[in-house]
Amino acid sequence: MSAARTAAVIGGGIAGPAVALALHKAGIETTVYEQHPVRDKAAGGTIALAPNGVAALHLLGAGSAVEAAGQRLDRQIMTLGGDRRIELPGLPGAGPYQAISRAEVSRILRELAIGHGVRFEYGKRLTAARENERSVTAVFGDGSEATADVLIGADGVHSVVRGLIDPGAPGPAYTGMLAFEGWAPVGVESDERTMVFAFGERAYYLYWATPGGGTGYGINLPQPTPMSLTEARRVPVAEWMTVLRETYRNDVPGGALIEGTDPATLQVNGALHIMPPVPHWHRGRMVLVGDAVHAPSNSSGQGASLAVESAIQLARCLRDAGDVPGAFRAYEKLRRRRVEGIAAQAARVNRTKAPGAVGKALMPVLMRLLLKTAMKPERTMAPALRYRIDWDERVAA
Ligand SMILES: Cc1cc2nc3c(=O)[nH]c(=O)nc-3n(C[C@H](O)[C@H](O)[C@H](O)COP(=O)(O)OP(=O)(O)OC[C@H]3O[C@@H](n4cnc5c(N)ncnc54)[C@H](O)[C@@H]3O)c2cc1C
Repeated sequence: MSAARTAAVIGGGIAGPAVALALHKAGIETTVYEQHPVRDKAAGGTIALAPNGVAALHLLGAGSAVEAAGQRLDRQIMTLGGDRRIELPGLPGAGPYQAISRAEVSRILRELAIGHGVRFEYGKRLTAARENERSVTAVFGDGSEATADVLIGADGVHSVVRGLIDPGAPGPAYTGMLAFEGWAPVGVESDERTMVFAFGERAYYLYWATPGGGTGYGINLPQPTPMSLTEARRVPVAEWMTVLRETYRNDVPGGALIEGTDPATLQVNGALHIMPPVPHWHRGRMVLVGDAVHAPSNSSGQGASLAVESAIQLARCLRDAGDVPGAFRAYEKLRRRRVEGIAAQAARVNRTKAPGAVGKALMPVLMRLLLKTAMKPERTMAPALRYRIDWDERVAA
């Protein structure tokens, strides 16, 4: 018998519907509570799903839909200052990345979960929780409550559940960068299967040719003072366009991409955060999954993939452990080392994207280190990208 019969999942982004699907596979009845009043409010923006994440999505039955909706990317190129162009070696047999909107991944997982009988409730913002020996009750901002055997915090980087588990838990750390996304009807020298990571004169960006013409791009703009998403979106887009034009004016093709962008289509995605190691992943009947416990920075290209992996591993542990505390301990043991290792690797990349005064002086050394890492993928990237979960294997106590 599984350690729990029912689960309340807080958050309907990516980890929430993924854990709901995995719990369904494990025979646990689940309801997902999302704070936004409408379904498709999940933040947009393009993400690249890594091969390990795509494999985890296949395990949940969502892989084919994601591959059909996504843009397959098999090549990665790094450019330094525009003139040096280095093709990063691939990992044979690991599988491609998939570029897809975050909202689309969320929708695919949610619709699949609903098809399996998972309930979703909207406009439910968790504010508190009460526990006793047998159950946990979620309390929502609208005064309603929901009781289940376990409560799973899939509520993202600003998690409320994290603070309920441990009021002293660390909050997200600002990376010193603001994210933007755009598209321009501008051709680039690479094809639709290639992602280019460009270290420009003043700032980092990445771009990919889109099917049917044009180029999509993501920007990590150094910005020393943190800005919330609301604050960043309050700044008129014309002002952001001026800043971006100035920042990328000497970069190829960065300058042309900004010039060619219709300002009305520029997406302001706000401050980029990472989660420092979280001391307590669980307490009593409450546990964390996804960005709430391990947001590794977008430099890793792994946030969503790790969220789906953790969702599956948590469900396996609840399926196989004799009781809830045992399941949560086994889950943390399976996941902590992996996610913290990937986060540490990504933090090193971040230092090259938003260097401070000392970082700027050390830039050539940092770049050499980064290249060395990228050039030995079997040693440095294979553990992340070749990770596969065996759903049928029993989790050891
Ligand atoms: C600019 C940017 C680029 C990125 N690029 C990549 C990439 O290329 N590859 C990649 O793998 N990852 C990328 N990521 C990271 C990826 O988006 C996250 O890792 C992923 O979305 C985590 O999913 P999650 O469900 O844990 O959190 P979220 O997607 O943030 O979902 C959390 C959900 O919980 C809800 N919620 C919050 N609080 C409450 C509450 N109190 N009550 C009820 N509901 C609540 C929120 O409304 C939200 O719907 C990127 C992130 C950013 C910001």
